[in-house]
Amino acid sequence: MSAYISEIFNSIQGEGPYAGMRQVFVRFSGCQLHCTYCDTPQTLDTECRVERTTGRGDFYSINNPPGRDELAGIIRDLWSPSTRHVSLTGGEPLIHADFIKTLDLEYPFYLETNAGLPQQARKLKDTIAIASCDIKLPEHNSTDNYNELLKNELETISILNQTSHTFVKIVVLPETTKHSISLAVDGIASIDKNIPLILQPVTSDRVPSAGLLLELMDFAGEKLKDVRAIPQTHRMMNLL
Ligand code: SF4
Repeated sequence: MSAYISEIFNSIQGEGPYAGMRQVFVRFSGCQLHCTYCDTPQTLDTECRVERTTGRGDFYSINNPPGRDELAGIIRDLWSPSTRHVSLTGGEPLIHADFIKTLDLEYPFYLETNAGLPQQARKLKDTIAIASCDIKLPEHNSTDNYNELLKNELETISILNQTSHTFVKIVVLPETTKHSISLAVDGIASIDKNIPLILQPVTSDRVPSAGLLLELMDFAGEKLKDVRAIPQTHRMMNLL
């Protein structure tokens, strides 16, 4: 069993409530969605970039797909005293749930997922320590069947919330409205009002206004107990 991976490196988590924590990032290739703001290629890379020295950004290449033991060795080599999690990111890591389940590592897994594959999430629910689950909005143009995606995302959140520290991330565009986040807010509240919701302004030339963020926070805050607005901080520090 194997999985295509585009990059492996050690950096600082830049999103959500765990921003600032050191992690080894394993960026899996491929995704079933096509969001307008996507910054990761969807192709299956023939080579995987691996950071040689923790934090240096000096990369060498290995052939894809790496074997389970090869990947585990690379992660151990990149681990450092302040590193706390292995971030499984993408692309969409849940596509590779069967492979991830075979990884034999002593470190906690931090999953960054679009949450659109609940059957895959079920396979990993006892493996993941922290789950960052996206909910996409209609204006993200991630899929041709938005209602189906939202249903799947809520099911994934419900599954992972049983066994992992789970939070939800919604990327806010300038055109996002209370109406466009309302089904997501209601869905999260119906699972657990205590699940944190992170409103993340899109990293782009066109950012949402502060007024819009505050308006959306108050709207969501009527139904959820922990609503925060947090931008991508790794971009500010020129990190990977
Ligand atoms: S879910 Fe993530 S990786 Fe997939 S298309 Fe959207 S932004 Fe890109």
